[in-house]
Amino acid sequence: MRIHELAKELGVSSKVLLSKLHDLGVEAGSHMSALDETAVELMRDEYGKAVPKVREDTAKTTDDRKGKKEAPKTEHKVREAKPRPEAGVQPPKSSKVIKVRGPIIVRDFAEKLGVRPNQLIAELMGMNVLASISERVEINIAKMIAEKHGFFLEHEKKIAEHQYVHRKHEIEETKEEKDEPEDLVTRAPVVTFLGHVDHGKTSLLDKIRNTAVAKGEHGGITQHIGAYTVDISGRSITFLDTPGHEAFTAMRARGANLTDIAVIVIAADDGVMPQTNEAIMHARAAGVSILVAINKMDLPTANSDHVKKQLQTLDLTPEDWGGEIICCPVSAQTGEGIDHLLEMILLQSEVLELKANPKRCARGYVIEAQLEAGMGPTANLLVANGTLNIGDTILCGRYCGRVRALINDHGVKIKSAPPSTPVKCLGLSGVPEAGATFRVYSSDKVARFLSEEAIAELKDKQVSIPKRASLDDIYNQQKKSEILELKVIIKADTRGSVEAIIHSLNEIKSSKILLNIILSGTGNITENDVMLASASNAVILGFNVAREPGVDATSKHEGVEIRLHSVIYELIDQVRDAMTGLLTPQIEEKLMGHAEVRQVFSVGKTSKVAGCLIIEGSVTPRFRARVKRGDEILFEGSIASLRHFKDDAAEVKESQECGIRLDNFTDFDEGDILEFYELHEIKQTL
Ligand code: GDP
Repeated sequence: MRIHELAKELGVSSKVLLSKLHDLGVEAGSHMSALDETAVELMRDEYGKAVPKVREDTAKTTDDRKGKKEAPKTEHKVREAKPRPEAGVQPPKSSKVIKVRGPIIVRDFAEKLGVRPNQLIAELMGMNVLASISERVEINIAKMIAEKHGFFLEHEKKIAEHQYVHRKHEIEETKEEKDEPEDLVTRAPVVTFLGHVDHGKTSLLDKIRNTAVAKGEHGGITQHIGAYTVDISGRSITFLDTPGHEAFTAMRARGANLTDIAVIVIAADDGVMPQTNEAIMHARAAGVSILVAINKMDLPTANSDHVKKQLQTLDLTPEDWGGEIICCPVSAQTGEGIDHLLEMILLQSEVLELKANPKRCARGYVIEAQLEAGMGPTANLLVANGTLNIGDTILCGRYCGRVRALINDHGVKIKSAPPSTPVKCLGLSGVPEAGATFRVYSSDKVARFLSEEAIAELKDKQVSIPKRASLDDIYNQQKKSEILELKVIIKADTRGSVEAIIHSLNEIKSSKILLNIILSGTGNITENDVMLASASNAVILGFNVAREPGVDATSKHEGVEIRLHSVIYELIDQVRDAMTGLLTPQIEEKLMGHAEVRQVFSVGKTSKVAGCLIIEGSVTPRFRARVKRGDEILFEGSIASLRHFKDDAAEVKESQECGIRLDNFTDFDEGDILEFYELHEIKQTL
């Protein structure tokens, strides 16, 4: 059935129907596109054109006419009259099997039974089911009828159910996407500590937690659930417990962007170290807000000015030096400056205007998960949006379940967890991966279905390698987005090489595409580099360096592309090629001619040929055609055949006549105009 026909039947415009189909993931080009049965049924359902049910009123009338006083025959009664074959029941050997997929339509069903549709309609009426030729028959009724005709009906409803559940899921999604502005409330920032080893990340986290616990009313009991929340005069901050950019980026590579603010911890005696640099680049690549804590201020060798100077060279000019980076001198040892640091985090989060809607179904991320004795699978979750409640149906990574209990970071059982709250969740069917997302569903069916699908997908994946950051993939992903950007990580043998490469890369001028060097440094390619590339969809370019042990396996697993070079120009050329490759070729239409339909001939039962006169230009069978009636475009597509008199023609020129048949279009009318055109790809340059 064509879209415009269905649109007419449903009383909507083709445009509205097209957009609805598009929303449901059904591919449809134009109003002339043909829809399969399932899509038609989906649309009918969508517009409330339900399956014809046993009509009570008719049943009554029939019974009354017969003078019977019994209750109207309902669908249930019909079923009772003859028990239906149960699912999984084997067909009796003598009967033939009819396989149907999706909705059972009277017309098709009659054909399968080998009876005329009218006969089937009459039979249905005999069962108090009123259905027209294009309507659906209930599966149980169809089974009974099939049996009567000596058939066994096998209903392959998988596809219909699959689409149905998907549609339900999508409807839920779109409903949820819309947050009313009045429902949005400020949420606590989620903070991660990054920095060089031994600069005091863990000490700071502990100090903040212990101070908060000592000040608070929770009696010093803390539960390690991967994150904790502190209250500062009525406002909250959530800290992630696993400091360091390795964990941070590994989570991002899993798709979990939990962090709002990264606090770069720098020891005041050591200053900026290699991992400080890396941490900054990782935070930048993640696009999170950066704040600096200059730690160990209690040490006599502490020199915060020196650190600030270093920061300035890294393009992180401190606020008190006229820049934008808030720097807080602190000591995890003495606690000095920590209150100020917390204040500054809150200030930064105000600027970020972090909002969430506690009224919607919760979604967020798994910080970590485990199997715990006596509790089963437990997941430490961070609620990113919505409120997670006991009893919610949750899909967490691949596993679904019903939230049985929620335990907060103080070990207290709670009933619900609002946005930015870390919470341990009990009740899942398995242990999800750290970094996985979780979501609450209003429908158990949808959650279970998605869980089954994800588990099946995992099985498939175990045999295929995920490809995330190959140049081809990036190209495909970028085609969908507006901003074209090539992200690269550069690792070279010496500082000098790194600088030379960056300098040459910056020389590649392009107004259309952005080259973003998210990390550059000396030394071999590490697993950390791979994780950053995976999290940021970047490619790793190495110059005179090797891969560290383990990198091969990680890059294979993450699908990250690593390209090693020993000639600088080759490396530069490759980046240029990659950048050019990212530019989507422009498609240009070239008008080749047009014709007028003079006469329409029927060929066979369904096909039609337009007898045309070429008014201008010419036509070849290679061209694409557009059918126009006045200003309205009825069809666009390819030419199925071109004939001049009775012969196939390679070209028909101006003032000549020809017969044209189009692929998937027959509704020609005299006077229609056919436009012929070609599509050309114009390769883009930088
Ligand atoms: P991380 O590797 O960044 O997590 O660093 P840690 O928190 O483990 O700290 C490394 C070392 O620095 C430990 O021995 C801490 O006791 C010490 N340390 C941390 N913060 C301070 C501080 O503010 N002052 C002093 N003097 N030592 C500190």
